[in-house]
Amino acid sequence: MASKANDSVLILGGGLMGLAIAHQLARKKIKVEVLSHNRNEAAGFVAAGMLAPHAEGLDGNLLKIGQLSLEQIPQWVNTIEADSGIRCDLRTCGIVVPFKNESDRDSYLTAQFGVALNRSELEQEIPGIARHWKAGLLFKQDGQIDNRRRLMRALENACVGLGVNFQEGVKVLELLENNNTFQGVRIQNAEGELKTLKGMKAVLCNGAWGAELLKELPIFPVKGQMLSIQGPREALKRVLFGPGTYLVPREDGLIVVGGTSEKEAGFTKGLTPAGQKKLQDGIMSLLPSASFWPPMERWWGFRPCTPDESPMLGKSRLEGLWLAVGHYRNGVLLAAITAKILSKCISKDSLNFEEKMLLKDFQWNRFQPANEQNKSTLIP
Ligand SMILES: Cc1cc2nc3c(=O)[nH]c(=O)nc-3n(C[C@H](O)[C@H](O)[C@H](O)COP(=O)(O)OP(=O)(O)OC[C@H]3O[C@@H](n4cnc5c(N)ncnc54)[C@H](O)[C@@H]3O)c2cc1C
Repeated sequence: MASKANDSVLILGGGLMGLAIAHQLARKKIKVEVLSHNRNEAAGFVAAGMLAPHAEGLDGNLLKIGQLSLEQIPQWVNTIEADSGIRCDLRTCGIVVPFKNESDRDSYLTAQFGVALNRSELEQEIPGIARHWKAGLLFKQDGQIDNRRRLMRALENACVGLGVNFQEGVKVLELLENNNTFQGVRIQNAEGELKTLKGMKAVLCNGAWGAELLKELPIFPVKGQMLSIQGPREALKRVLFGPGTYLVPREDGLIVVGGTSEKEAGFTKGLTPAGQKKLQDGIMSLLPSASFWPPMERWWGFRPCTPDESPMLGKSRLEGLWLAVGHYRNGVLLAAITAKILSKCISKDSLNFEEKMLLKDFQWNRFQPANEQNKSTLIP
């Protein structure tokens, strides 16, 4: 099949990062084409939607970027809602982390950002919490968004409205390069045809599958199984973030329960009895009454993990190819800042000092020996 020149920015992977970046680029009137292998496998549709840099106990650079993104989320969501006409159910509902004793609570990495709760205060925040939880931290600034039913759909809608071109069912098979410069991609479309798509600029944002296209990227999948239960409306007003299990109450009383963390599963698809039992046991250990609420849905997906559990952002080894991969368990939280920085890089808008530092902190080659790192330019 003859190849055709393409002056659009190619978005390689139409999951959360791909949609968020496409949206920002389209708002800057840049032509964008999204190549999406399988919309339904995107972790963006799997996640619980917690916005939780403090409750997750992040630290160092990851905490810093998480806090910055959290600040930017309300404005980011406003633009998505305005462009799509779809509400995303962003709620700063606060997240409670329970502990077995006060000393565990006080030594939690992000304890300084939370309100310390004793047992009776914990019960007030989470009525019915199991008796073995004796203390808690309330992070009022953390929250949630309904990524699964709302945010992803709103982004798709906003992108199409702004003229983004979508190709669903297209697998990028190979990146084409010459002299360390990105030249385009080999693809297979939904009808099975093989094609070459020439292009000068692209963003690699294919999540857990990143290393299939750029083998030097140390990305691997960490499978997560989820379920949802239907509780009485407002049975839980805050997210409850226990060790290994969390309960995320949506506005309509649906409670998203997550998530197993299965490194050894690789890309093995499907639910397992052991995984689902782990979630059920987790509910019992956090909020026993919720064990009787009916399950509504069960699903799974793959978190894109890296050795330091942080994303790779900015330039790649290839001129013209940008990276937005490896957001692991914080991609919903980090989508706002990722989209902002990547769209600025590509449109050549000037980056502020903080943004330049983030690109340095999250460069892809930080995992390589120092002498190898010098071979690529780090900051645009
Ligand atoms: C169980 C679970 C719970 C989570 N909970 C939270 C949470 O509460 N809060 C939070 O902040 N984050 C959470 N996350 C993490 C978050 O979902 C991810 O970090 C984020 O979705 C990653 O976005 P992405 O665009 O990189 O990848 P994805 O959303 O997975 O999208 C990647 C897309 O690329 C496509 N693709 C792959 N290969 C190719 C190819 N060769 N050609 C074309 N397309 C390709 C795939 O089909 C897929 O659609 C959770 C994740 C999981 C799995």
